[in-house]
Amino acid sequence: GFRPASRIASIGVSQILEIGRKAASLKAEGKPVIVLGAGEPDFDTPTTIKDAAKAAIDRGETKYTALDGTPALKRAIVEKFRRENGVDYTTDEVTVATGAKQILFNAFMASLDPGDEVIIPTPFWTSYSDIVEICGGVPVLVPCDGAAGFRLKADQLERAITPRTRWVLLNSPSNPSGAAYSAEDYRPLLDTLLRHPQVWLMVDDMYEHIVYDGFDFVTPAALEPRLKSRILTINGVSKAYAMTGWRIGYAGGPRDLIKAMAVVQSQSTSCPSSVSQAAALAALTGPQGILAERRESFRERRDLVVKALNEIAGLNCRVPEGAFYAFAGCAGMIGRIKPDGASIASDRDFTDYLLDSAHVAVVPGSAFGLSPYFRISYATAKSELEEALDRIAEACGRLR
Ligand code: PLP
Repeated sequence: GFRPASRIASIGVSQILEIGRKAASLKAEGKPVIVLGAGEPDFDTPTTIKDAAKAAIDRGETKYTALDGTPALKRAIVEKFRRENGVDYTTDEVTVATGAKQILFNAFMASLDPGDEVIIPTPFWTSYSDIVEICGGVPVLVPCDGAAGFRLKADQLERAITPRTRWVLLNSPSNPSGAAYSAEDYRPLLDTLLRHPQVWLMVDDMYEHIVYDGFDFVTPAALEPRLKSRILTINGVSKAYAMTGWRIGYAGGPRDLIKAMAVVQSQSTSCPSSVSQAAALAALTGPQGILAERRESFRERRDLVVKALNEIAGLNCRVPEGAFYAFAGCAGMIGRIKPDGASIASDRDFTDYLLDSAHVAVVPGSAFGLSPYFRISYATAKSELEEALDRIAEACGRLR
């Protein structure tokens, strides 16, 4: 039979995929399943962006491009970092890949030797630890619960650093918690890193534009110029411009790292899709009004979801600063008895119960490294969210 390589042996099938499969099979049986598991905006890609891609095809931009991004797109990214983040990168300090996911892969592949450690606060986007492991690294998970605002604190960082630490990976706003780091939240962490010159900082700013209540988004390379030479600032067009399927992500960082990442990319995808790069160029250089409009629509849904969750006895949900996820604590449900007499022992039991009895698919905190919690993605129509939350409340009411 097939013998998998040791580098993937420890990486199981993602719980999110398992739940998705179960939801799909219930749907196929005719059950009215509502899936609140998706990590993508429900909006369509704006028309101006689609038109730019069509025009690129017609101009014949259908060939390999420069290895890690067309000169035009790199210039647009440099301008984006300058305009929106106040960070100055040159074109040879930015890189473009097939999604931010490939950026992460390129960066870890280019920098980790076997046994090198990457500090990842939990809850975290599931791919982080799996990518680190595939690249031979060791994820060092640091729990940051709701009481801590799901944010890493400086003393936790200090304790997690060892001589093997290569990176700290921070994600603001976060998938799955929606928590974001303000300048004040970042400051003590950056001060700690200044004292540990062997540790580099990777920041995933993917949800930068999806922040609420006037939250002032900041990125560490702007906050601490003395650290800029060991920060990789990751971003992309997937979430901001509803472009998940186009697969374009980008990053800014020190030239030597960017060069090493291009070496990895040159032996995997050769370059990002030419047509998608033209679309991303239009997204970054075109009208930006769409961002505010969609942010407002996400905020309405966030408010609806968080309020409804907090009205259910046994659940509690912190108001997230950004992204389109609510991460609710369900400690009050653990130990309760289902109508079938079985008891709920974990957040996964609870989310299985919601899927079986309320036909609502959500993802348990265990999938993100922190229990007992569950994640609701609210990038879904308001009417669906209202229906789903009614059903969740009803199902919780049936627990003893
Ligand atoms: N970073 C975070 C925090 C995400 O949630 C996701 C997607 O779910 C990504 C990166 C990946 O984005 P991309 O579509 O650019 O690969």
